[in-house]
Amino acid sequence: MNFDVVIVGAGPAGLSAAIRLRQLAIAAGRELTVCVVEKGSEVGAHILSGAVLEPRALDELLPDWREKGAPLNTPATDDRFLYLTAGRAIRLPTPPQMHNSGNYIISLGNLCRWLAKEAEALGVEIYPGFAAAEVLYTEDGSVRGVATGDMGVGKDGKPTDAYQPGVELLARQTLFAEGCRGSLAKSLEARFGLRERHDPQTYGIGIKELWEVEPAKHHPGRVVHTIGWPLDRATYGGSFLYHFESNQVAVGFVIGLDYENPYLNPFEEFQRFKTHPAIRPTFEAGRRISYGARAINEGGFQSIPSLVFPGGALIGCSAGFLNVPKIKGTHTAMKSAMVAAEAVFAHLAGGANGPVDTYPAELKRSWVWPELKAVRNIRPAFKHGLLAGLAHAALDTYVFRGRAPWTFHHRPDHESLRRVSEAQPISYPKPDGKVSFDRLSSVYLSNTNHEENQPVHLRLADPGLAIAVNLPLYDAPEQRYCPAGVYEIVREAGGPRLQINAQNCVHCKTCDIKDPRQNINWVVPQGGDGPNYPNM
Ligand SMILES: Cc1cc2nc3c(=O)[nH]c(=O)nc-3n(C[C@H](O)[C@H](O)[C@H](O)COP(=O)(O)OP(=O)(O)OC[C@H]3O[C@@H](n4cnc5c(N)ncnc54)[C@H](O)[C@@H]3O)c2cc1C
Ligand code: SF4
Repeated sequence: MNFDVVIVGAGPAGLSAAIRLRQLAIAAGRELTVCVVEKGSEVGAHILSGAVLEPRALDELLPDWREKGAPLNTPATDDRFLYLTAGRAIRLPTPPQMHNSGNYIISLGNLCRWLAKEAEALGVEIYPGFAAAEVLYTEDGSVRGVATGDMGVGKDGKPTDAYQPGVELLARQTLFAEGCRGSLAKSLEARFGLRERHDPQTYGIGIKELWEVEPAKHHPGRVVHTIGWPLDRATYGGSFLYHFESNQVAVGFVIGLDYENPYLNPFEEFQRFKTHPAIRPTFEAGRRISYGARAINEGGFQSIPSLVFPGGALIGCSAGFLNVPKIKGTHTAMKSAMVAAEAVFAHLAGGANGPVDTYPAELKRSWVWPELKAVRNIRPAFKHGLLAGLAHAALDTYVFRGRAPWTFHHRPDHESLRRVSEAQPISYPKPDGKVSFDRLSSVYLSNTNHEENQPVHLRLADPGLAIAVNLPLYDAPEQRYCPAGVYEIVREAGGPRLQINAQNCVHCKTCDIKDPRQNINWVVPQGGDGPNYPNM
């Protein structure tokens, strides 16, 4: 199938690019075919975010979003920033980056569903249930599109009765909008050296639940962030509680994947957090509706890779434009996509060949660049611990105003784990079944579904390393950092072995990031498989 532009991923970035391209084509009276492929069973099925939306990019993309009924129903009205100790919650002044006046508490999944309808009305073709599995190249090495994965391939790699070959989607330009740690973006970074002269990307894991709470506990518009307990001061992270429509509260916990203690279990930290005396009452008589997890970019400005290559570009969180102190990446993902779309449109109209160099140039002139540059040192300063990080954040914000004449750098998250011989085991409380739960009952709420008879989509470069290296040196950390319990060490007569329960995977990408030897490669499973988030 031939298109002018193929976009991989129907998140806010992919859909914004598609909308902008068609808006420009309609305004210019030009033919321009745009196709979006999405691995989720429907648009929004794989979208997991907080989310407080800064509507700046949406205002620019669809200024009449209010009249058109965009699902932005809860203005953020009340910001709270808390420092937790084991027994107390101390209210701190809200950092300026976390002021949310003018923003909205939303379900990003629902916003994407709405954006998809707008895109289709403008003539964009959207194909949910199709995972882009491979980048296609011309003989001279330019990207010429993507191929969706074959369906109906058995565990043994052989076609089953349900076999359907993948489809080649060819385009003059291909935009990769796979979100954080995209699997094709990873291969493009390696092939085109997109990370040369840039810092490595760094990440956090965000685990989230959606709750319906008692009306008396619900304060629409309230935005709460916490730092401190249950994490120790060397570990970066914190929680969010967003009260939005219909008595719903989105609660989540983000932990920097540069954590050092191999015994740390992000899922258990999140469950323990909800038992805090200041947090538990919100949820005690409530009902948990949904559960999920997703990695989040934390590298910021210095980790933005080269964005273009012959035949295509990276947009949104595939490249990494998240503003870490704000914990917001949707507005910047959308804006990067709009800038890329404008550059691609002009590039195709002019019949130019080669990379769309005007995209990075224009992005540097847009508001995304100064916004990210100003906060570039805040996250890396936390590698010296919570107190040093907070002190530096205050200095950087109030004294230097983001203009400090230095830039702190990152190292890859997979290098940070200490060996078990140098680490303290952590003992986590048992779930109480009221506000805290176990992993398997949680994964059930993500509505995750994978065809069982298919090749495992978590590929080990060297299957022996799990037992030869990860187990003795780090007590198999994949057992703990995976929020879906996919990795299990099974002790058998012949010795321990790693069991991969791939059908539980919620596509968060943490294993691809955190494995100490980078031995795990996450590739797309069959299209349509994975979580089915309702409104995460
Ligand atoms: C826990 C958490 C809380 C957050 N809170 C906020 C917040 O409050 N405010 C805010 O602004 N931002 C927040 N963010 C960040 C925000 O969610 C992201 O910046 C934003 O979603 C990025 O949009 P995107 O379109 O680039 O990627 P995504 O939203 O990740 O969308 C990518 C899409 O591409 C699809 N896809 C991926 N690979 C393929 C493939 N190979 N083939 C087909 N489809 C594919 C995915 O299924 C997905 O639908 C949060 C993130 C997390 C994890
Ligand atoms: S297997 Fe990997 S990508 Fe899947 S849920 Fe576990 S950590 Fe996330």
